[in-house]
Amino acid sequence: MAKTSRTEARRTSGSRGAGSRSAGARRAAKIRLIVQIFFFALIALIAVNHSLEEAGKAIPVLSSASLHAVCPFGGVVSVYQFITTGTFVRKVHSASFILMWIVFVLTVFLGPVFCGWVCPFGSIQEWFGKLGRKIFGRRFNRLIPYGLDRILRYLRYVTLGLIVYMTAATGVLMFANIDPYFALFNFWTSEVTLVSIIILIVVLLLSLAVERPFCKYACPYGALLGVFNLFRIFKIRRNPSTCIDCKACDRVCPMNIPVSTGGAVRHHQCIVCLKCTSEQACPVPETLELTTARLEASAKIPAKEATA
Ligand code: SF4
Ligand code: SF4
Repeated sequence: MAKTSRTEARRTSGSRGAGSRSAGARRAAKIRLIVQIFFFALIALIAVNHSLEEAGKAIPVLSSASLHAVCPFGGVVSVYQFITTGTFVRKVHSASFILMWIVFVLTVFLGPVFCGWVCPFGSIQEWFGKLGRKIFGRRFNRLIPYGLDRILRYLRYVTLGLIVYMTAATGVLMFANIDPYFALFNFWTSEVTLVSIIILIVVLLLSLAVERPFCKYACPYGALLGVFNLFRIFKIRRNPSTCIDCKACDRVCPMNIPVSTGGAVRHHQCIVCLKCTSEQACPVPETLELTTARLEASAKIPAKEATA
């Protein structure tokens, strides 16, 4: 019965316009790329405008704040100091606090869309990854042994704990001196340390072999937002009764999440890129979707709970 249902789903998926689905997939990928380019350009412009302002030549309509002032993670590391003294950590601005809350609300609903759609540092790693895919082919993003990769993925929680603790203890933005994201958009200024430039270069080189290495193994903000994947309202849900177990979703996931083994993705590294969904990689319509509703199983096929 289950087998028949899956065979039907396979047939239906083939006949229900593979052409229109691939057009939909291209459109979805294009929309995300446009959003990523928009935020990359915006942050680059703000960084350049900050330098122009110091020379008295800032573009009037554009923010000339330092990137620290418009980074939502600046709000996170300021929380302790704000609660205890009512002030922000040096270089952090009230705008960071507002952005922090906006990102939190968005993440409660949709998960870490900030990582998958907005963060320019995530985007540039992804773009280097496209080049890496050409160099390494199928081995791209599969070079690190599974066991080691699993352990390394928890490193970003160590980074998060250390940075929050040290910033609270010292009142200084501890991450600034080693932050590759800040280095990327300020490498021409004296505010950037040599260490952060070296880290930036290493991350970009690693991105040629591993998808989003900084996001996976080191990003403290990604670590925090990733926790929301456990209880976010809209989840990536799989319908086990129409799933044909082709594993296309697993293969396409940039964060190597075993999407096909569960009912809903709760993995702490999902970045909501939507590449796995029925609109993109999954060949069966309405089988893998971003939704609040559980996708009902019309035939009983055992599905492990997706916390992989
Ligand atoms: S491919 Fe799916 S599971 Fe993987 S990160 Fe993107 S949305 Fe999350
Ligand atoms: S892509 Fe994933 S969810 Fe879709 S049919 Fe294949 S294994 Fe199932």
